[in-house]
Amino acid sequence: MRHRLLTIASCSRSRKQLSLLVSRSFSRLSSQPDRPSFGIAFDIDGVVLLGHTPVGGSPRALKRLYDDSGRLKIPFVFLTNGGGFSESKRAQDLGHLLGVNILPSQVIQGHTPFKQLVNRFENELVVAVGKGEPAAVMSGYGYKNVLSIDEYTSFFDAIDPLAPYKRWTTKPDIDQNSTTNEMAKRKIAVQTQRVQAAFVVSDSVDWSRDIQVLCDILRTGGLPGRETGKQPHLFFANDDLEYQATFPTERLGMGAFRIALEAIYNRIHPIPLAYTSYGKPNPSVYGNAETVLKNLMASSLSNLDVENITNYGNRCFKTLYMIGDNPKIDIRGARQAGDPWFSILTRTGVFKGKDNHSEFPADLVSLRPCLVHLGVRNGKWNPIATHLWMDL
Ligand SMILES: [Mg+2]
Repeated sequence: MRHRLLTIASCSRSRKQLSLLVSRSFSRLSSQPDRPSFGIAFDIDGVVLLGHTPVGGSPRALKRLYDDSGRLKIPFVFLTNGGGFSESKRAQDLGHLLGVNILPSQVIQGHTPFKQLVNRFENELVVAVGKGEPAAVMSGYGYKNVLSIDEYTSFFDAIDPLAPYKRWTTKPDIDQNSTTNEMAKRKIAVQTQRVQAAFVVSDSVDWSRDIQVLCDILRTGGLPGRETGKQPHLFFANDDLEYQATFPTERLGMGAFRIALEAIYNRIHPIPLAYTSYGKPNPSVYGNAETVLKNLMASSLSNLDVENITNYGNRCFKTLYMIGDNPKIDIRGARQAGDPWFSILTRTGVFKGKDNHSEFPADLVSLRPCLVHLGVRNGKWNPIATHLWMDL
């Protein structure tokens, strides 16, 4: 197996700090070899996958985080701004693509924080926007009165004047067992009930229709076709302007959709659009990831060790690695989250620069497109290898 030296050019931490970090990790490991002093958060798109294809040796590298029996040895999570499917489905799909067993709790998506809003909107009518199964995602979180924007739109005749010209058809997830009478009652209920919140769960599939219908919902107080009213709540799972998929250059993301919606809304409504965006680089996302990693660590240890972890409080880990391809998202977020986060920037996705990123420099940058080796050899973690070497 060949290894290549990594650059530490333009590090946001000095070499002295880096040496201290390495020695701290090393001494921790020396005294308690069975417990790693670190956790890892991987971005998905542009780091471990491009579309549905693994990047480089990502399946092989991830296998090193498990022991021979397939038990998780090193706590890690996937920390992505993507989404559209439940965490359990995404875990299953990732496990299939990457050849390892992924727990649903190891998948933190852009919309995962929407779980925490369920108490506010549990029984309210809410609309879920985006590709995949946005309404099923929200139902899984506990929202009891949620409609996908496909289904919601189907209850309002001619709300999208361009629909007759669209060559695709949308099939909203309507209960096939519903009778005509039940459907008629449902239509009346939706047409008379105000939407209390719109959740952009994943990337919009039909920007023109979604912007039209969201503007209708937002400027009428939640009831399209009626008089104007107080804007319902609006939440975005992330604010990514661009992301890397299989096409050679970046694609427009949810942040671009938000800009389009906001620009149009602010031209047709006197009060500026109010909204909340989640996802990286929001520091709370990294705090949540740390909690999940801590729980993963605790679940794989004995009771005694769990007690010790509890005593550590929030300092369970000496180092948490954020491995991402987007300086403005992954690296910026890790920098804002601060210690113990350590950022590693790969050139496998959005970032293609020769050196470090000028505005949001990572603690470490790879010399060429590759996945971090992670320094795990013979079941032992070697933090020096982590910092200095890559598996090509
Ligand atoms: Mg990415």
